[in-house]
Amino acid sequence: MNDYETKKKFDDLFKYIEKKIEIPNLKIYYYDFYNQDTKKRIDEYLDYNLPINEKTDDNIKEFVNYYNSNVDENKKITDKESFINATKDTFKKEINELYKKQEDYKKENLKQSHKLSKETHETIEKDKNRISSLFKQYVDIILNEYQNDIPNEIKNKLKGINNFEDLIDISETETISLFATPDDSMIHLPLQAYSVIKALATYEEYGTDKNHNTHTEETMIVNDNTFRDFVRHVIIKGETPAEYFEEILLHETMHVCGSKGKDAISEGFTELKTRELALKYNLNTSCCGYPKELKIAYELQELFGKDIWDKLTFKSYGERIEILSNDISYDAAKLYADIYKIMEEQFEPYINKKYPGINGIIDKCNTYDEINYQEVYRLINDYKLNHNLTNNELKKETEKTKVLVYKKEGFTTIRPLIYGFIITIGLLIIIFILKK
Ligand SMILES: [Zn+2]
Repeated sequence: MNDYETKKKFDDLFKYIEKKIEIPNLKIYYYDFYNQDTKKRIDEYLDYNLPINEKTDDNIKEFVNYYNSNVDENKKITDKESFINATKDTFKKEINELYKKQEDYKKENLKQSHKLSKETHETIEKDKNRISSLFKQYVDIILNEYQNDIPNEIKNKLKGINNFEDLIDISETETISLFATPDDSMIHLPLQAYSVIKALATYEEYGTDKNHNTHTEETMIVNDNTFRDFVRHVIIKGETPAEYFEEILLHETMHVCGSKGKDAISEGFTELKTRELALKYNLNTSCCGYPKELKIAYELQELFGKDIWDKLTFKSYGERIEILSNDISYDAAKLYADIYKIMEEQFEPYINKKYPGINGIIDKCNTYDEINYQEVYRLINDYKLNHNLTNNELKKETEKTKVLVYKKEGFTTIRPLIYGFIITIGLLIIIFILKK
């Protein structure tokens, strides 16, 4: 079983248990519950074969022993079924505790939201300073790396910025997400991060591994991380709000520099370009953003080449269609249009929601789980099959379809002339009859 299959099987299993006990988001707690050597543990768990034998993971052994010594005879773990029941029981307890913590925090948060302590005010000012100097550094790197792709107008605007600190806004945004508003070149950081991270800091696992990472160099570009993995990382690493902001800052700076967003495939490309940049220049980024969208962006990049997607990342939908049909083929543009449509249907419910507070984290994870782009992969596969393309053939195909597109356009420009001609003849005939 490879990593992906393992993960998938694991996800399915926990989705099943989640449904059974009607508690959403069990997975996040499962991760937190046993925190060592996840993959090995999952494999052994799936192969789990009671009674406990030499092969059984120590964590599970420990759990079973602990559980059995604390329950009545008829509840003891003796087979797979009773094992699953026992984990449900345990998770329920954990989750109830967590929900209680959340409720307490909500109350506390309400009390605190209007009066930040002097200490927090000072931290916020310091963070703003730190983030804005990184922001400036990132803008310089992005402008340099994508100098041929970023529209001049944006380049000039960014080169004229004197004070980057004015462009960092830390305020109440009713969400824990970060976002950019490219029109005024601003990046908005959520004030809520200060209270949410304070809540996360009460978890036992908070700060247990200062060197925790979400990826290796090999898995930096494509991986299965989600926002859930990111939150877990923030907890284990024991991040401060500023460190949390820093992991998302590069992606948001890409938007300020003209990389398109808001729609699914554009976010996929922005994230792909963010990670490529981070890898090349050794910059910090979470590598957890938009994993499903990134994978499709990556597929399209494999199909049509990196050069064209470097350029298209900074272009609008209309411009992308035009460039794809001119530089690649009519079919390529059509594939993009079809994919765009399917992805938007899946993505809209997720992106149009706000995710406030700790509950926001859970809601964000669950809403993202619902996104399914299976249909997109079918289209990409069909495209590959129909075109059966190697790189050389792709070039030839491009030439052929260029002619087709040209012909199509040719007809479109001729059509009004034909109509005009017919109408003129008609008018002449009417005049001729009336004169008689
Ligand atoms: Zn984005």
